[in-house]
Amino acid sequence: MTDKPYRFFRVRLTAISDLTPSFRRFTFTGDDLDDYGDPGFDQRIKLIFPTVTAPLEAMPTGDDWYAQWRELPSDTRPHIRTYTTRRVRHDLREVDVDMVVHDVTGPASQWIDDARIGDELLILAPSTAATGVSFGIDFVPPERTDAVLLVGDETAAPAIAVILEQLPPEARGHVVLELPEPADAAYMPTHPGFGMSIGHRTADTRHDFLTTTVPQVAERLAPGGTGADVEEIDIDTQLLWEVPRTAKGGAALRSAPLYAWLAGEAGGIKALRRHLVSERGVDRRAVAFMGYWRLGRAEM
Ligand SMILES: Cc1cc2nc3c(=O)[nH]c(=O)nc-3n(C[C@H](O)[C@H](O)[C@H](O)COP(=O)(O)OP(=O)(O)OC[C@H]3O[C@@H](n4cnc5c(N)ncnc54)[C@H](O)[C@@H]3O)c2cc1C
Repeated sequence: MTDKPYRFFRVRLTAISDLTPSFRRFTFTGDDLDDYGDPGFDQRIKLIFPTVTAPLEAMPTGDDWYAQWRELPSDTRPHIRTYTTRRVRHDLREVDVDMVVHDVTGPASQWIDDARIGDELLILAPSTAATGVSFGIDFVPPERTDAVLLVGDETAAPAIAVILEQLPPEARGHVVLELPEPADAAYMPTHPGFGMSIGHRTADTRHDFLTTTVPQVAERLAPGGTGADVEEIDIDTQLLWEVPRTAKGGAALRSAPLYAWLAGEAGGIKALRRHLVSERGVDRRAVAFMGYWRLGRAEM
């Protein structure tokens, strides 16, 4: 056990389950997973993938791990990618991570393709000492809100699934998701207070479902407001990420008619955020948006 809010867990793959055409669940076990923190909602984690020239033993895991990792030569530096905790079973020392199966273009997709039972990874995740919103949770709604709008592509589906499972039954809102295949809709859990609009796309129609559906849903959920200017973010050079919160990490507003959480490919999320804030007039302090990945660009 440790009193640090974050730590590395060495884990071993024990099960691979194909949930739908695009979602594969990886179940890991590890001796100290009883210390794996599960503060909830869209808890982000880092997975460290080994390569032949960069085994897990090469990964610095001390307090200064990031600076040390950056100094490693690229061919001996293990790859790091960001994922979401899907479920933790402390009693069994198990954690599930749901990963999108996409073209083999990077270290994560390569690992997903090659994974075999017994493979080992490192996971950088909260320990049980971590509490509250400051440790990689970006779903921070106001205490009082009439509706929650959750929007994303397939990479955000695991986070949206956990959020839906953890919101109380009296919560109200709508989910808009764009997924690769019609059969992927089966991945999503339901919530009694949430409507669900799920579309699929072809390679040429990325974002089309989101950009047509989100304005229609937002019009129903949010009273029109005065549009505010949003600064243009250059997604080729800047991270598309804004999570309104107070200095202590809580929600930026105590109440709002609508709270929107948007995550997925940066180009699509940028357009949706502009629509909600500039055109629909949703208070920007009630809109969290996150570019989870960028088309044509590796994470790091
Ligand atoms: C907070 C957060 C939480 C996330 N949670 C999840 C999660 O739970 N499950 C999940 O599957 N993903 C999740 N992602 C997205 C995941 O981190 C990226 O998809 C990641 O870039 C995949 O790594 P890679 O090594 O395969 O590709 P990279 O090496 O990062 O990129 C190589 C190429 O692949 C392309 N690419 C990357 N991802 C995709 C994709 N999904 N579809 C098509 N092309 C892609 C890139 O545009 C680039 O051209 C999350 C991201 C963030 C920031």
